[in-house]
Amino acid sequence: MLGPVILAASRSDRMRRLVSAAPVTRPVVDRFIPGESVDQIVPIIQDLTAKGLELTMDVVGEDITTPEQAAAARDAYLELIGRLAELDLGTRAEMSVKLSMFGQALEGGHELALANVRPVVEAAAAIGTTVTLDAEDHTTLDSMFAIHEELRKDFPETGCVIQAYLFRTEADARRLAANGSRVRLVKGAYKEPAEVAYLQKPEIDKAYVRVLRILMEGDGYPMIGSHDPRLISIAQELGRRAGRKIDEYEFQMLYGIRSDEHLRLAAEGHRMRVYTAYGTDWYGYFMRRLAEKPANLLFFARSVLTR
Ligand code: FAD
Repeated sequence: MLGPVILAASRSDRMRRLVSAAPVTRPVVDRFIPGESVDQIVPIIQDLTAKGLELTMDVVGEDITTPEQAAAARDAYLELIGRLAELDLGTRAEMSVKLSMFGQALEGGHELALANVRPVVEAAAAIGTTVTLDAEDHTTLDSMFAIHEELRKDFPETGCVIQAYLFRTEADARRLAANGSRVRLVKGAYKEPAEVAYLQKPEIDKAYVRVLRILMEGDGYPMIGSHDPRLISIAQELGRRAGRKIDEYEFQMLYGIRSDEHLRLAAEGHRMRVYTAYGTDWYGYFMRRLAEKPANLLFFARSVLTR
């Protein structure tokens, strides 16, 4: 029951100020967001890729309030891509972006987000890699899918994310699986109303499997974004039944969560991509990680109390 409370707090400015300013927070945050700058994140990128893992890089931030912040977000990704160019990793390091960080919620936000994300997608393509558009709350998704479609006209490798908990997702999956898209399937991390989403874990898990089957049987490239061991086995089985080779889909997990499993799947020959977030505006991302596993909150509380 704590999950929804933490998710509500993830949108509260007061909580943001409190949690972000507490000096004890940073070491706990490090588990999920292992750096605040490009200089701090480059050694992590080198370490993970040396272990045979692939990466999708996220500069944390969302819900910005001015066009200048949106432009700064774009520039932060361009800085990152500049450093990735030196590392010459190609598709082993791609980017994940949240369109709300590129201005989607501002006036004229759809056009603004498209204008800000396009140079990032172009720069990524220039170094032989690509971008995936993260899925945020359900009110943003029509705009996200339209931007995805627009970007794919010039950059067909641009990926997007769909969330199993939403009722709309089976239909989205059918459309995306038919047009050859790279699609990451996740359970969904936002606080959604019962009118649009399954709220109970068993229903969400069943929906995940239904959507996974659609993606595996389609023409696109499925990216299985989950740490759930049951769903990972089911994905392997559905991939086999659909006649996919082991490199015709990939697994994705978040940095700091089930790290042994990252290495195990990579050792089995799977493409295993670690979603690695860094930056200073980590509050929303961090709170969603707490909400997914309220035991993390105890870990957080314990480290506050033992200081
Ligand atoms: P769960 O049933 O939640 O977890 C399975 C097991 O994994 C748990 O028992 C636990 O052992 C472990 N685990 C899961 N989460 C945590 C945690 N936070 N801390 C510690 N252990 C944990 N959501 C979106 O809405 N939009 C996105 O764009 C998006 N992108 C994502 C990208 C990737 C690569 C991944 C892996 C997730 C992404 N998510 C996104 C989050 C996703 O929606 C889920 O909230 C999250 O993955 C937890 O669901 P699960 O499938 O791991 O299953």
